[in-house]
Amino acid sequence: MHEIDIHTHQVKSEVSIRILNIFAQDLPFLNDKSYYSAGFHPWHIGLVDPEKCLESIELATSQRNMLAVGECGLDLSVSIDFAMQEFYFRKQTEIAQKHSKPLIIHCVRAFSELMKIKKETKSDIPWIIHGFHGNQQTALQLMKHNFYFSIGKSLLSDQRKKDILKLLPADRLFLETDDGNTSISEIYSLAAQMLNISHEDFAATVLENFKRLFGSEKLPILI
Ligand SMILES: [Zn+2]
Repeated sequence: MHEIDIHTHQVKSEVSIRILNIFAQDLPFLNDKSYYSAGFHPWHIGLVDPEKCLESIELATSQRNMLAVGECGLDLSVSIDFAMQEFYFRKQTEIAQKHSKPLIIHCVRAFSELMKIKKETKSDIPWIIHGFHGNQQTALQLMKHNFYFSIGKSLLSDQRKKDILKLLPADRLFLETDDGNTSISEIYSLAAQMLNISHEDFAATVLENFKRLFGSEKLPILI
């Protein structure tokens, strides 16, 4: 059984397939045995050289173990200039589109802006919202715009969110550990329990999603 961790900051994670998040300012990522994504996080605007970050992401796309662009995105809960956030996010959607890499998105309180950008760009690559724990209405709107959802502990440890998880189409779901200490196995168990299906069946579904988005040749794994 493969348990895929679509977004993690844990270098030591021992799962068979995981996408390690690398911040653009930490590129190049020289380990060619681990899948990773690379992105310029909106929180880092003003702290790092943005042009260099974009250049490094563009360069990284040529590595076969670089699977996605991100995390990148929009965050209205922080006081970082939103026009700048939008500018650099759009730049990264362009890089992702140009190199046919899915996007791993950090989005806080900016879902309508995010949907607007997706519509405008007419992008046909997968847009995966990581750490999704929004409400039902947001989930429904995002589904209409063909977003994918990566779910982590914050949604799964809240029984009130059960209905939202059930609402999300199984073929659009991923799971993640992000920067938490809960293992991906535990995350799968929590999700399977909430959905009232077996751990194995759920893992098989997510595996199919992974193959469809990232290519089945990405299995068997490099590590
Ligand atoms: Zn993260």
